[in-house]
Amino acid sequence: MRAASRKGASWRKEEAGVFSPDGGIVDVPKMDEGESPALLLPLADDFHVHLRQDAMMKAVTPAVIHGGSDRVVVMPNTIPPIRTCAEAADYRAKLQAIDPRVDYRMTLYLGQEVSADDLRANADESGVRGVKSYPRGVTTNSEAGIESYTTYYPLFSEMEKMGLTLHIHGEVPGVSVLTAEASFLPQLEELHRAFPSLKIVLEHVSTAAAVLLVRRLGPTVGATVTAHHLDLTIDEVVGCSHNFCKPVAKMREDREAIRQVVMDEGHPRFFLGSDSAPHPRHKKEIGMKAAAGCFTSPFLLAYLADTFVWGSSRYTDDDTTVTKRLPDFVGRFGAEFFGVPVKRYEEGKPAVELRKRAFTVPSVWGESILGSEGAVVPFRSGDVLRYESRLVGL
Ligand SMILES: [Zn+2]
Repeated sequence: MRAASRKGASWRKEEAGVFSPDGGIVDVPKMDEGESPALLLPLADDFHVHLRQDAMMKAVTPAVIHGGSDRVVVMPNTIPPIRTCAEAADYRAKLQAIDPRVDYRMTLYLGQEVSADDLRANADESGVRGVKSYPRGVTTNSEAGIESYTTYYPLFSEMEKMGLTLHIHGEVPGVSVLTAEASFLPQLEELHRAFPSLKIVLEHVSTAAAVLLVRRLGPTVGATVTAHHLDLTIDEVVGCSHNFCKPVAKMREDREAIRQVVMDEGHPRFFLGSDSAPHPRHKKEIGMKAAAGCFTSPFLLAYLADTFVWGSSRYTDDDTTVTKRLPDFVGRFGAEFFGVPVKRYEEGKPAVELRKRAFTVPSVWGESILGSEGAVVPFRSGDVLRYESRLVGL
């Protein structure tokens, strides 16, 4: 097996690349005039996605594999929320009926109805791998969220024994959106201290303070990072409801801290979780109270490659960040954190081909199912990305 395969990714024009002993690519293939090399990756892991219900579910579930992922953590904030393993199994069956190629890792919505007995008896069979906590009223469908963690300490203790993960939306309610995540961090630290062996994921990190804390905490604490938090600052959110999500993108120094830990350093406890959160256009393009969420699923790897090209400060050759850092971020670190097999690129097997070629993000997704007003406007709609992603071998 060639070094390229050990890495989990391969340049199609492999002879042009030189691979270091640790599997990293140290020399990047030249971009021949009129011909661009393609980076081939196994299908990615997206460890945080919202697949909704009914017609919206039918429209956005196929976007997962279209965007380059085939293993996802599914969020439970449906209406009503997913509280039991039976409900999760039912939801998973609906998703599998839409696209059976994707591995759906299910979560329950933390609340009084979530029972350790249910998890112990049924989690494996129903595909439930964790529990998601939403502070009350902070984001979409979080009205049923929790107010205090100590009530759930007995459940967390059982989850710790069962090896289930606690996924946390880390914002406190009732404060400014700009300080809600930073204000939450002492609670994360306290939880980790109380349950040092419990796997905890701080979802969609958006601040330098959160990056610092996750780094400082032990090996059981990880963080998902979205494509949009690598791309945006608050300046691009103001005035554009399609860039509005919770937690909101923060200041330039916050984005730099996220980019540094993902793109420059490649820290193994920071991995992809897109938080792709579709809303119908009529709930985004309104004057007041636009819904929170960026829809990134259908072009996820293309967005990431584009941002990795110019987001890193460490590498002078832009594309080096894509080749050196992207494969582990989307395919290795999260899998290792959750203890699931790391997928490898194999010739002829399903893969994602990332080619350096201008790609214009379409203006809408799901129109044939959802109609014009109900369709979803993808993140960066109308922008020209520097990479195009394409599925091969499927
Ligand atoms: Zn989310």
